[in-house]
Amino acid sequence: MPGADAVILGAGPSGLAAAYELTRHGASVRVLERLEQVGGLARTIQHDGCRFDIGPHRFFTRNEEVHQLFVEVVAEDLLRVARLTRIHYRNKLFNYPLSPVNALFGVGPASAVLMFLSYARARLRHRLAPRPQHTFEEWMIDHFGARLYETFFKTYTEKVWGISCDRIGADWAAQRIKGLSLGVALKHALLSPKKHTVKTLVDEFLFPRHGAGMFYEKLADLVEVRGGTILLGRRVVGLRRDGMRIRSVVAQGPDGQEEEVEAAQVLSSMPLIAMVEMLEPPPPEAVLAACRRLRYRGHLGVHLKVRGLPFPDNWIYVHSREVRMARVANYRNFSPQMADGEGTSPLTVEYFAFEGDDFWKRADEELIEVAADELRQMGFVHPRDVLSGFVVRSQQAYPVIELGYHEHIAIIKAWLDRLTNLQPIGRSGMFKYNNQDHAIATGLLAARNVLGLGRYDPWLVNIDAEYHEGGEAR
Ligand SMILES: Cc1cc2nc3c(=O)[nH]c(=O)nc-3n(C[C@H](O)[C@H](O)[C@H](O)COP(=O)(O)OP(=O)(O)OC[C@H]3O[C@@H](n4cnc5c(N)ncnc54)[C@H](O)[C@@H]3O)c2cc1C
Repeated sequence: MPGADAVILGAGPSGLAAAYELTRHGASVRVLERLEQVGGLARTIQHDGCRFDIGPHRFFTRNEEVHQLFVEVVAEDLLRVARLTRIHYRNKLFNYPLSPVNALFGVGPASAVLMFLSYARARLRHRLAPRPQHTFEEWMIDHFGARLYETFFKTYTEKVWGISCDRIGADWAAQRIKGLSLGVALKHALLSPKKHTVKTLVDEFLFPRHGAGMFYEKLADLVEVRGGTILLGRRVVGLRRDGMRIRSVVAQGPDGQEEEVEAAQVLSSMPLIAMVEMLEPPPPEAVLAACRRLRYRGHLGVHLKVRGLPFPDNWIYVHSREVRMARVANYRNFSPQMADGEGTSPLTVEYFAFEGDDFWKRADEELIEVAADELRQMGFVHPRDVLSGFVVRSQQAYPVIELGYHEHIAIIKAWLDRLTNLQPIGRSGMFKYNNQDHAIATGLLAARNVLGLGRYDPWLVNIDAEYHEGGEAR
């Protein structure tokens, strides 16, 4: 099949942003998307009259261009949502950020004092005898003290990543956790709240009326209006190359038939490892070996339509060890149109697992029961108020930032850089912990490379951004 100026693998945020930019400049694009809908990990699914995102998605960016794009495309459907997020720990809810009174009553004065002393000790040691910080754990203890870290960060982080915190690289903490601010807030609350007002926690965020995915549905419409082609239900299964140039992309349609699309330029947002392993002929063994050393953490969203309004928060981080869930969101508190009326709430209970492990393999009905039971234990929902549910498994949701992963990526990237017409983009596509705005930025930059509008390096996007929770309020 004849191709287009660019063949784009995946219709998530990065792929659609690239398609948007290319079609805006008159280039032809063909987007191949394995699912039957656009939006990728930021898509919105309709079920039983309600709308559910894969997990709670807040749009926030420091990139003015990406912000403008979002605002212009979502247009009249944009809501400004007051943020309420709390932390569930030992059956108590902690404000986020913590207020001094809430913190003291929450952990109790004795624990609060011990936390402060442990924090003070860590900072003093940092000044007098600084130690190298290779791991997430070392970084956290150095910045917050052992007690704060063990009480509030360790369990949640290990729930999400599924590996011990001493196997997660310090760079992840340095980039991402700086502003994730139970620690910062508690530290500030316990020190001098007036002097250290937490400016980094965003009180409001933007949200499309019908869910995070609405932005991408609108973006896809614009791409098609400008002549771009978005093919849904097309799973890319092969990338054929002549030397260091991709000749064609092979995609399998809904009927199982394979079609080969000629490729002038390829932008790939499908998971990096799968993409590299699909190359025909394969890359050198060292590149494949580097791929085998990397892994993704899977995300299980148990989506429940429940009666009533179980909590007023947008989402709650669940640090408590007693339950397996990591977070629970209520989309009705994002936008009333996410629910099917006043009397119900669409919730997502989030779990993390590695693809193929026991939890991952549990039947959907069983997972719905686990989630309903945990919500009961936490006092949020009685099982009889769970009206319906479904489960979405995202295999490659979180690239695992395990110690040493940089070296493997460097090997893969060095070889991919030699391909003359392929650019990886996006989150799974570049094996980076990117948020929507970063993913969009990589797509825009890669498109400009194709258009000859400059020479950009999408790998540099987000290289030293802070954790998403921690930007200045716009
Ligand atoms: C639970 C959760 C919560 C999040 N919360 C936030 C948040 O609050 N704010 C925020 O900004 N970001 C958030 N993110 C991150 C955000 O979802 C991602 O940054 C963004 O979706 C990445 O876009 P992408 O285009 O790089 O990749 P994806 O969204 O993964 O899109 C890739 C696309 O490629 C398709 N694909 C994969 N394999 C193939 C194949 N073989 N053939 C064809 N197509 C294929 C996929 O189906 C998908 O549509 C969250 C992510 C998760 C999982």
